[in-house]
Amino acid sequence: MKDEWNYPGEGIFVEPPVESGARARMVIEGVDLLEHLQTPALMVARGQVRFANAAAKSLLGAHIVGQDVRIAIRDPKAVAAILSESGGTARIPGLSTGGSVWEVDCKVVNGTDRIVSLYDLSERVSVAKSHADFVANASHELRTPLANVIGYVETLMNPKAGSNEELRERFLGTIRHEAQRMQALISDLMSLSRIEAVKHEAPSESVDVVHLARELTGEFRDSAHVELVTNCESAVVAGDRGQLLQVLRNLIDNALKYGQPGGPVHVSVEAASTGWLLVMVRDEGEGIAPEHLPRVTERFYRASNSRSRAAGGTGLGLSIVKHIVERHRGRFDIESRPGKGTTASLMLPLRDQ
Ligand code: ADP
Repeated sequence: MKDEWNYPGEGIFVEPPVESGARARMVIEGVDLLEHLQTPALMVARGQVRFANAAAKSLLGAHIVGQDVRIAIRDPKAVAAILSESGGTARIPGLSTGGSVWEVDCKVVNGTDRIVSLYDLSERVSVAKSHADFVANASHELRTPLANVIGYVETLMNPKAGSNEELRERFLGTIRHEAQRMQALISDLMSLSRIEAVKHEAPSESVDVVHLARELTGEFRDSAHVELVTNCESAVVAGDRGQLLQVLRNLIDNALKYGQPGGPVHVSVEAASTGWLLVMVRDEGEGIAPEHLPRVTERFYRASNSRSRAAGGTGLGLSIVKHIVERHRGRFDIESRPGKGTTASLMLPLRDQ
């Protein structure tokens, strides 16, 4: 049986010999189906690309039709899978963009023709990588205080050091501090996973943010200078009260940690006629250098490692803020002028009343 006729899509279509009419019809119908697939697909026969659907042409270029498959797809492993007797799969790194990962899947039909599908795995691979990075970072952050706790406990178990009252007190203080660091980290990790679990559920409680801000700033009355300014008596959003409280708490905590000791911290809550609520938390601290600014909402990213750790920071506070604001369909922004201070602001859609 002859199979050296062209497939549609190449421009010229040569009628197949009469005896192969049924097969030809099947192939034509198959090719027609492939053309409309979103997945890039090729038909390869005798080592040559005979047909490429629109998605494959846009990925690899229209010129691949008629090309030797080794030139059309340069990756040796992918070519080996395509040309192997029974087909197979292979991964191609960097096929579309530098960091992309594609999978080639080759099925042999009619003993000779090959249908090659290309699947973009880039997103899946990058999610898996960021998950692995996150677990590695979290383990590293926990390992350091844990190693300190073990080290100090072992020293205290030594009768000589353990009987020195002053040393004992000091070491126990350090052990408590390190244990608190681990506790803060575990609590932030649990917050992140709870937020992650409900991220697709739109929050539905009616939350008065003015009331929330009053309650929270009031907590600092005796310990720090945190002032609240607002242009309305109440401003209601569809939200998760606990999460919005956590956002404000994290922002005020940061303004106190990295701002002037004891404040001032300026909190403002403004309802705008556009239907948005603007909440700002401003401090007068050293600020954040411009090169760090775009990354401070990444998990475990710290603009200043030593300051964050000395202040008991976990490196997760702003990442928690960003995720909560996203769940509330809002916007989060942070601006800073080195030497002058930092302003964290969020916009939330007001609930129609
Ligand atoms: P941390 O627990 O370390 O405070 P965050 O996620 O809350 O972590 O913040 C990330 C980093 O951003 C901090 O380590 C700090 O370097 C910087 N940062 C956050 N808020 C401020 C601020 N108000 N002023 C200066 N730097 C800040």
